[in-house]
Amino acid sequence: MTECGFIGLGRMGGAMARRLIEAGHRVVAFDQAKSARDALAAQGASITSSARAVADTVPIVFLSLPNPEIVVDTMLGKGGVIAGNRLEVCVDLSTSGPETASRLAAGLAERNIASLEAPVSGGIKGAREGTLSLMISGPKSVWERVRPLLEIFGRPFFMGETAGAGQTMKLVNNLLGACAIAITAEGMTMGVKAGLDPKRMVEVLNVSSGRSSATLDKWPRAVLPRTFDFGFTAGLALKDVRLCLAAARILGVPLGVGTAVCELLERTVSALGADSDFTAMAKIVERDAGLDPERPPT
Ligand code: NAD
Repeated sequence: MTECGFIGLGRMGGAMARRLIEAGHRVVAFDQAKSARDALAAQGASITSSARAVADTVPIVFLSLPNPEIVVDTMLGKGGVIAGNRLEVCVDLSTSGPETASRLAAGLAERNIASLEAPVSGGIKGAREGTLSLMISGPKSVWERVRPLLEIFGRPFFMGETAGAGQTMKLVNNLLGACAIAITAEGMTMGVKAGLDPKRMVEVLNVSSGRSSATLDKWPRAVLPRTFDFGFTAGLALKDVRLCLAAARILGVPLGVGTAVCELLERTVSALGADSDFTAMAKIVERDAGLDPERPPT
């Protein structure tokens, strides 16, 4: 049994923290939302009154927070986990980008706290079932120490010791995932306007060269049934694509397709809200083409 902390008990963090408890570990947790705290307390977690209090109680702390600003503030800010008396290792499971990873590693090192980045992919289903992929970087000795805990969440891939490596891998993955949704929305809209049956189209694509995570997973689960509830918000997807564009700019890599996808996500967030599902990008493409995005499933 390992004592570990968890900060950020949302859709992803709540499910991952629960898996730690189910695996027999002692979890000390905090979230700013009472509903999230209550839900994990009901699973057996000890709840603290602040993020800092988690780091006062346990040596290893996981974070799964919405954006880099909140991650930096929670880790390094006034009253942040950096001041925790027992803290030895901080593991950021959030998608925070390579720049933030470097900043966290440097900031925590000043207090001899090790930083590991471990952004995840696989969505809420993966978080619940322990089938996430995790993209790890940081000191090898720290990776080896927390590896058994990370394996409870899914399959970890060590990308190297350089700060930012895991986050770069994650941003590339999410860029590709968002691009797949955008281009599938365009292709599907074209087919539907030409009179093709969308279910039949997906069936064909999934055994042809046009298949992708969008045709295999997003369309069957959230677009064809018109539920648009895959579980990842357009606001978070936009944050990730923006982080990716910023990281690519620093590397001197032009992302023309990525920029177009970023614009489509911006329009999705402005028309449908940051909390709308990222699969709702398809609604914007449909609306542009004169289709009714609120039509029932066929
Ligand atoms: P979420 O919004 O469901 O959860 C975030 C949680 O953080 C909420 O419970 C919120 O109350 C809490 N929180 C916010 N500010 C806080 C603060 N200052 N102190 C304490 N708690 C605070 O988001 P999510 O979907 O679980 O995503 C979390 C991270 O995982 C993000 O970085 C996201 O990009 C990444 N991610 C999400 C998915 C997904 O499918 N949802 C997949 C892979 C990666």
